[in-house]
Amino acid sequence: MKIVLKNLTKVFPSRNKKEGGEVIAVNNFDFEIPDGKLIGLLGPSGCGKSTTLNLICGLEPPTSGQILFGDDDVTHLPPENRGVGLVFQNYALYPHLTVEENIMFPLQNLRGKDKLSKEEMRERMLKAARLVQIESLLERKPSEMSGGQQQRVAIARALVKMPRVLLLDEPLSNLDARLRLQTREEIRRIQQETGITTVFVTHDQDEAMSISDMIVVMKDGIIQQIGAPQEVYDDPANLFVAQFLGTPPINTFDGSVKDGLLYVGDKAILETPGVKDQPVSVAIRPEGFIPKAGGRFVSHLERVEVMGRDTSVVSTHPNSRNTFIRSIISANSKLVKDGSNVTFDLYPNKVFIFDAETGARIRFDLKDGE
Ligand code: ATP
Repeated sequence: MKIVLKNLTKVFPSRNKKEGGEVIAVNNFDFEIPDGKLIGLLGPSGCGKSTTLNLICGLEPPTSGQILFGDDDVTHLPPENRGVGLVFQNYALYPHLTVEENIMFPLQNLRGKDKLSKEEMRERMLKAARLVQIESLLERKPSEMSGGQQQRVAIARALVKMPRVLLLDEPLSNLDARLRLQTREEIRRIQQETGITTVFVTHDQDEAMSISDMIVVMKDGIIQQIGAPQEVYDDPANLFVAQFLGTPPINTFDGSVKDGLLYVGDKAILETPGVKDQPVSVAIRPEGFIPKAGGRFVSHLERVEVMGRDTSVVSTHPNSRNTFIRSIISANSKLVKDGSNVTFDLYPNKVFIFDAETGARIRFDLKDGE
């Protein structure tokens, strides 16, 4: 089931009565979520992720705009008539019910033509339990299970009504690091097996990038960029997106363009043909550095951290906006020192420049093969 958001806007009155004003939590969202895909809504706290999800499921009415599921306009339908399954951060299972009863619960309220017999309910419950691989725990109460298992029950409960759309709001936040990894892969598997169009909300860019077909990067209620995760990482639309995606984060510098050359400090680090002379923000991905004698990028070496497969070179530069620059090089490559400095060449496709004022991307032609 494809989901279409048409000029969707949600304005809240300010929570701070003294200051007044209003908050545009979702500002004119206009995009389509293709059928059967998993999309990640991604952005810092307060950017409007949960509000978008609440609009899609009908918990909040929009201020303006439309929501379509396929060709159905669901903008004014109550949540229970939209056919959405919802999973929140806190699993909200009923503590006094067993796993089986918890999963079956949503089916017991079905009335009229949707009403199911006991056998049908059990069959549906078993199917959902199998899908999330908890069929051996049906007799347990929530308190007798791990956080990851409880979250699976919550997912099974959302799936049991066979929703048209699955909405997940920070579903992994309460899990420890290892379980998060495991559960996000589970969510991806379940989504692919069921083919349900899924919207996944998270502030964790690793999480969103690893399982989404498409990510929507948001800030202050405004969409910054939409695309396949790798596409957005490789070709950020602005400085915010470049800084938000990537671990370790991208390194940013004050720079300038002069006569077709990009300068950081007094050193030209790259050709930027066709870009007019101007001050710019420069951002270099950690994997964009190549140790090289006489390389164009020179920074002051602070320390080297060996991380198994890779080496993280920590250095400083007077024009860096971060306290430290992080360069990730393969553990096999040899660092090139020049006194207390390290010297690098740069992969041009890992260097981005942005308008110093607005942060908008400034594109330049890469030489062939770069
Ligand atoms: P988080 O990751 O912290 O949950 P979020 O990206 O999900 O954040 P939202 O909860 O959608 O963000 O909030 C978006 C903006 O709307 C915030 O500025 C928030 O304070 C505001 N907001 C959300 N709900 C309300 C409300 N009921 N009344 C007033 N303002 C609200």
